[in-house]
Amino acid sequence: MNAKPEENQVDISPIPALRGTLEREAGMSGYTSWRAGGPAERLYKPADLEDLCAYMKTLPADEPVCFVGLGSNLLVRDGGLRGTVIHVHGALKQLRFEERRLQGRQAGEESRFGVVYAEAGVASPKVARFAANNNLTGAEFLAGIPGTVGGALAMNAGCYGHETWSYVSQVLTVDQQGNTHKRCPRDFQVDYRHVAPTRQRREWFVAAWFLFPKGDGEAGRAEIKRLLERRVASQPLELPNAGSVFRNPPGDYAARLIESCGMKGVRVGDAQVSEKHANFIVNLGRATATDIETLIETVQEKVKLKHGVELIREVRILGEKVAPASSRLVCQVSGWKPALQETGHD
Ligand SMILES: Cc1cc2nc3c(=O)[nH]c(=O)nc-3n(C[C@H](O)[C@H](O)[C@H](O)COP(=O)(O)OP(=O)(O)OC[C@H]3O[C@@H](n4cnc5c(N)ncnc54)[C@H](O)[C@@H]3O)c2cc1C
Repeated sequence: MNAKPEENQVDISPIPALRGTLEREAGMSGYTSWRAGGPAERLYKPADLEDLCAYMKTLPADEPVCFVGLGSNLLVRDGGLRGTVIHVHGALKQLRFEERRLQGRQAGEESRFGVVYAEAGVASPKVARFAANNNLTGAEFLAGIPGTVGGALAMNAGCYGHETWSYVSQVLTVDQQGNTHKRCPRDFQVDYRHVAPTRQRREWFVAAWFLFPKGDGEAGRAEIKRLLERRVASQPLELPNAGSVFRNPPGDYAARLIESCGMKGVRVGDAQVSEKHANFIVNLGRATATDIETLIETVQEKVKLKHGVELIREVRILGEKVAPASSRLVCQVSGWKPALQETGHD
């Protein structure tokens, strides 16, 4: 006779032994390109996709979850992040060329397009080089975007007239119960640096199939070199930063507006509006997340005051605030000697 299940019976269907690593109170300054910020309560680095799904199954339904790639568009406040951070870079690392029949609008176009399967933890520049080495074109713009495929999908990363989602054929997502789902571009609303599911779902990107036109790999590699040189000349890559802090407002450039307010070189603590590119904030050494956020808000205020334009952040800010004792604001306007002054700014 079958025993009646106990009311508080726990599902012990076999969960494969986890193979990833779990870090508690993980300092997020080590996982973000600004090299600043507080700790994550838990940070899980899965061994691979199967391990990630198994780990997700162990999480309580209400656990706050945040996927992080290379943290190149992310500020974690000094008070830290509650819940679990999933760190996929170096873990979800499959990257391959796929021979497959195309469907939808591209059906029958196999001679003109190639399919690249990339997991979310693959660095975007690697996809650019991989595509060029396989005589595919279009991915060159990813060479200078120092994040992961997951981050590029979440942000619709782009530059020089190209955007990630222009090349997406399908994505693979995972939900909080550890189940994976294949989704099409039409399942998402995709805009400038913004991507949201069309129907309310709590899912994260674990892989994508990209469709790139076949072409000349040699020319692709030359284009990658040209684009990288352009970045080195115009961006402060020698200091920790998170790329463009603000989206460009329609018909204008955030950098132009910020520069015209005399903000280049302005500092809060060790956070500084870059002298090289006004839409970048660099960490001169010991900037806290509070310094960076205060500087972001200061820039927004000045631009609003002078131009009436509301700058919208491109960088994501997460986590809890800490009450600052005081912030130092250093104004360094060209031709002036830098002056250090205590302010009541917070
Ligand atoms: C020097 C420099 C230059 C840059 N240039 C550009 C540029 O030209 N164009 C551009 O668009 N961006 C640029 N960026 C910003 C950044 O590199 C991109 O937004 C990048 O795609 C972020 O990827 P990431 O893996 O670092 O994401 P993270 O910073 O780790 O995360 C960014 C956001 O995406 C979410 N996320 C990350 N992974 C996943 C996932 N697997 N599933 C769901 N959500 C996820 C995070 O929760 C977070 O909200 C630049 C940054 C730097 C430092």
